[in-house]
Amino acid sequence: ETIGGNLARIAAAYPELDALVEFATGRRWTYREFDAAVSDLARALVAAGVAKGDRVGVWSPNCAEWVLVQYATARVGGILVNLNPAYRDHEIRFALKQSGTSLLFTATQVKSSDYVAMVDAVRPDCPELREVVSFGTPGWTAFVERGADVAAETLAEREAALSPEDPIDIQYTSGTTGFPKGATLSHRNVLGNGFQVAEIQGWAPGDRVCLPVPLYHCFGMVMGNLGATSHGACMVLPGPLFDPADTLAAVSQERCTVLYGVPTMFIAELALLEKAGDKYDLGSLRTGVMAGSPCPVEVMKRVIAEMGMAEVTICYGMTETSPVSTQTRRDDSLERRVATVGRVHPHVEIKVVDPDSGETVPADTPGELCTRGYSVMLGYWNEPERTAEAVDADGWMHTGDLAQMDADGYVSIVGRIKDMVIRGGENVYPREVEEFLYAHPDIEDVQVIGVPDERYGEELMAWIRMRPGAEPLTAEAVRDFCHGRLAHYKIPKYVHLVDGFPMTVTGKVRKVEMRDQAARILG
Ligand code: ATP
Ligand code: MG
Repeated sequence: ETIGGNLARIAAAYPELDALVEFATGRRWTYREFDAAVSDLARALVAAGVAKGDRVGVWSPNCAEWVLVQYATARVGGILVNLNPAYRDHEIRFALKQSGTSLLFTATQVKSSDYVAMVDAVRPDCPELREVVSFGTPGWTAFVERGADVAAETLAEREAALSPEDPIDIQYTSGTTGFPKGATLSHRNVLGNGFQVAEIQGWAPGDRVCLPVPLYHCFGMVMGNLGATSHGACMVLPGPLFDPADTLAAVSQERCTVLYGVPTMFIAELALLEKAGDKYDLGSLRTGVMAGSPCPVEVMKRVIAEMGMAEVTICYGMTETSPVSTQTRRDDSLERRVATVGRVHPHVEIKVVDPDSGETVPADTPGELCTRGYSVMLGYWNEPERTAEAVDADGWMHTGDLAQMDADGYVSIVGRIKDMVIRGGENVYPREVEEFLYAHPDIEDVQVIGVPDERYGEELMAWIRMRPGAEPLTAEAVRDFCHGRLAHYKIPKYVHLVDGFPMTVTGKVRKVEMRDQAARILG
């Protein structure tokens, strides 16, 4: 099935159910209205000359038009180029040129970001960029109206010629470890994955899914949107950029049954609930997904206990695999649901290998996680060498993540190969130390990195955000807390108190950036 075919089928089955709600403005679409709006925009794309395989960019924080562009582009066989709203000159120029985007949709002004001005500034460098349309402007209305001249049959013919194997999307990775890579994904990749993620959570028509996660990333666009539209569920967008108060208000007022987030979002929501819990009624929540970066056990337990998300699941994956490869199941033991990333997804294979020899390692031994199946990307856009480095000749995607699998197939993520610290010859996985420090009652959030050290090669440095009102911790107090409970080589030598961490827009902590800053702090 193609994305357009899937939407048409679901919209015909549940025309009166809500499909999309933009909470900040109160705009809403039933499936009948949503399907019609997508079709109008798809015809406008045909009128604008978008041919099969043309790149259609979207550069905007979350909004309803973003979702319409996603589905309309898929219906005409265009390739959506998802551009991170945090990109500035340097990155947007790179991505527009690298992808050869010819038509670009943008936001106008969101907070201090003036997308129109930023596009104008780079346009002279992007000869392939023919047209720019900004959401909510007269230009947008005029663009959509052009579709009226295109017959429904023309669109239907176009759709009939599409195959599930066609590329629909160039999805740049988060850029956590370096410059983003443009993973090219097909209808089968993303529709299959969005469907499975939702299926495992047991979604049904009428479920309402709160999506504070960015749409420009697979978490929003695939696991959120395609999960929802393949199940007759409703996409609820709490706001353009993540805000814990908007998110909890959206859940409360829209009676959401499902909530998505990266761990840092849940941490912020839990903190807000502590302060102002009686303002929100989360009684409708049942399940959701936490994913994207390590999900601390303490945070998972609190989400289950304090947010009523009894069935919340953890997903593990990466952009290149559409994205999810493993997920916890509702009927897994509580222990496994909070402390592992679950078992492999349907129709996907995984193995854990020694990164040097490539041999599969025994159970419970850390190694590089590799995945294979329908969900592996078509390749990095126009980068065959980097594709060949990531996906081997047998189709295995090498994730760059260290993981271990137990005898029953439950996977735990140990950390990124690039983040592993080697102190005096001992491998230290920052994740383990972070988990340990989370148990300290005064610590709200903590990230551990390795910093260069003459004697031991590397030493550990903990960046700590204190709970509001707690006395600041000294390095000595942190070490005292660890002594006798953690092996000596895992105890952080340095402690750095912060109000926040350098983040990607997908809400991930950028440890590369932390390491740079640490080098400056330590001189
Ligand atoms: P880049 O590849 O550009 O450096 P990135 O790897 O962060 O950025 P994504 O594709 O968005 O880009 O993220 C995938 C990565 O996120 C995985 O490789 C893994 O390191 C991490 N990740 C995802 N889910 C989890 C999880 N549940 N637990 C731990 N880590 C996770
Ligand atoms: Mg990556």
